[in-house]
Amino acid sequence: MTFIDQWLRSDIRNINAYHVPSAKNMLKMDAMESPFGVPEELKDEFLEYISRSEVNRYPDASAEELQATLRNLMGIPKDFGVLLGNGSDELIQLLSLACSSGDSIMSFEPSFVMYELVSKFAQLNYHGIPLDENFDIDLNATLLAIKTKKPKLIFIAYPNNPTGNAFDYDVIREIIQSTDALVVLDEAYYAYSERSFLTEIDNFSNLVVLRTISKIGFAGLRLGLLVGSEETIEQLNKLRLPYNINILTQVSANFLLKDSQRIVSNAKIIMNERGRLYDELSLIPGLTVYPSQTNFLLVKSDNAKSLLESLKESGILIKGFAIGTQLENFIRISVSEAKENNVLLECIKDYYG
Ligand SMILES: *Cc1c(COP(=O)(O)O)cnc(C)c1O
Repeated sequence: MTFIDQWLRSDIRNINAYHVPSAKNMLKMDAMESPFGVPEELKDEFLEYISRSEVNRYPDASAEELQATLRNLMGIPKDFGVLLGNGSDELIQLLSLACSSGDSIMSFEPSFVMYELVSKFAQLNYHGIPLDENFDIDLNATLLAIKTKKPKLIFIAYPNNPTGNAFDYDVIREIIQSTDALVVLDEAYYAYSERSFLTEIDNFSNLVVLRTISKIGFAGLRLGLLVGSEETIEQLNKLRLPYNINILTQVSANFLLKDSQRIVSNAKIIMNERGRLYDELSLIPGLTVYPSQTNFLLVKSDNAKSLLESLKESGILIKGFAIGTQLENFIRISVSEAKENNVLLECIKDYYG
């Protein structure tokens, strides 16, 4: 037995590490990244801007300018509090740190894996309520689970990853009303979705909204935000490590996020491409494509595993799901720009050719 084996908490030893496949020279269509980088015509100005940052100093601890930039970009009302995280993943973890030992975290299955993973890190109980066959919330089962499990925290990805749909708005309202749990509406895909719970923060004291800039073109900056009432955010902010948003992220986001028009128009391009990919893939016998309010498509195929391998050999990375899980016959494709989507379409057509 190695030192670490006998030293480590056994439940951590048993966790499967979060696996990120190597993407060298691959067309990345697996992680909901945006295909749009820093625009060529802005690169010099961007470099000049970040070169002025004082990397010998700690960053602005409250990141005030960045907060203002995000409020402006996302239309966050002045009287709401904003808590910044090193990616929204960090904020999911921070919320689990606020729980007491023995507390339960609830979410749905299938949904974003980080909710369960973070519950395990913090030694909390995780309950994943199964979604129905259309990947919608089973309200009765959920209300029953709330009664019996008494969760402290409920994560609802809205729209949901990896299924792509947005759950029924009124069903979610009912869930929020029925529980003392803090309900976290994870709106990572807000830019591609029709509705948001942001303004409902005024109506429910137990509601917070989680967002990220990862899915709108800035995954590399690692920046997420939790929005809630001022009182809620003020207390949760005590759990944030000082200086968690590094200076290069702060200045880069301040520069890049001010261009809100470009962000909106890039999202439009992706949504158009999403519609086109949906139509084209739906024409291929053997594939069932699910409606999406995100920048990815969930696709069912009896050949999911071999299709994924075939695409990989052609240099395209998409997401598959573990054998033995509900989604083993599914793939998830991140929508990219037209040129890349066409390469994908050609490869899939060849596969079924
Ligand atoms: C991608 C994703 C996140 C992670 O966002 P980061 O800000 O990159 O950590 C959070 N929630 C959901 C539902 C996601 O799909």
